[in-house]
Amino acid sequence: MTAARKRAPYLSVVIPVFNEEENIENLVDRLSTVLRGLGKPFEIIFVDDGSSDASLELLKKAREKMREITVIAFNRNYGQHAAVFAGFEHSSGKIVITLDADLQNPPEEIPKLVSKMEEGYDAVATVRENRQDSLFRRVVSRLINRITARITGVDLKDYGCMLRAYSRSVVESMCASRELSTFIPALATTYAARTAEIEVRHESRHGGTSKYSLTRLIALEFDLLTSFSLWPLRMLMVLGTGICAAGMGFGLFLLIMRLIKGSEWAVGGTFTLFAILFFFVGAQFLAFGLLGEYVGRIYGEVRHRPRFVIKEVYGHRGRAQ
Ligand code: UDP
Ligand code: MG
Repeated sequence: MTAARKRAPYLSVVIPVFNEEENIENLVDRLSTVLRGLGKPFEIIFVDDGSSDASLELLKKAREKMREITVIAFNRNYGQHAAVFAGFEHSSGKIVITLDADLQNPPEEIPKLVSKMEEGYDAVATVRENRQDSLFRRVVSRLINRITARITGVDLKDYGCMLRAYSRSVVESMCASRELSTFIPALATTYAARTAEIEVRHESRHGGTSKYSLTRLIALEFDLLTSFSLWPLRMLMVLGTGICAAGMGFGLFLLIMRLIKGSEWAVGGTFTLFAILFFFVGAQFLAFGLLGEYVGRIYGEVRHRPRFVIKEVYGHRGRAQ
């Protein structure tokens, strides 16, 4: 432990990889130029998130050429955030930087992040300057950013950009939180005392295609909503109370009208009653669904399942191998 600590690098770069065979060589080249240029000890941790292409082979090959590289291989695909977590757990740098493997975040921006961190921030987030994604993706992301800022109460402009820097203590806190599904940028904001946001360049994907479909984006946002706020539960209560009050008022109204206008009028209202009933049934289902989501999450947490399973670690100081 102490030996490993002594040799702890200044900088750890964590990169999740899922079917990125077209980008790896280029990425490693550009990264090594930039990191060597910084003149500080560093490590690069690639986490292969169960790729089915040649990514893992390419990463292992890169490791043979560059001793600073560690490759963690998952036994299957667990998602980008799980991969980043695995990287965090194996990292030991004072500053930890996350980066996408598809070269959309230019590695050349890393020194900017490092110097910002050295000003004393716990986390440095980035905003993508003229973002190179499809219009649809940008619109969805803008919506997600707005909602996220509201939920977390931390007003960052761009939650989706994974080019970020964290201090050792923030990373340790994140690793200590054993939640199953966690959205890293939002989680980090709960532990970081001082967060800065800087602008970085954004490029279009170097090769391959995006791994995020609309359904995956929606799943991510749902995760975020339920794991970072109790707002939906509170809204449920407000909504439930409102509907109940309206229902009682309406019932009273029907009773009075019946007394005034007689039973004939009441028969005419049968369909109105149906409409009301449907409304209530709908509202109840909505409520149950949401409650179920929270219960499901609690169930997930209490089972304490590992977030991911590592098949193999290639070349990490002192651990595994
Ligand atoms: N990624 C991953 N596991 C997944 C999906 C994506 O490790 O299940 C990695 C992917 O290889 C890339 C990063 O996460 O390095 C971002 O993915 P992508 O570029 O597809 O997302 P986008 O840029 O479209 O948001
Ligand atoms: Mg990308």
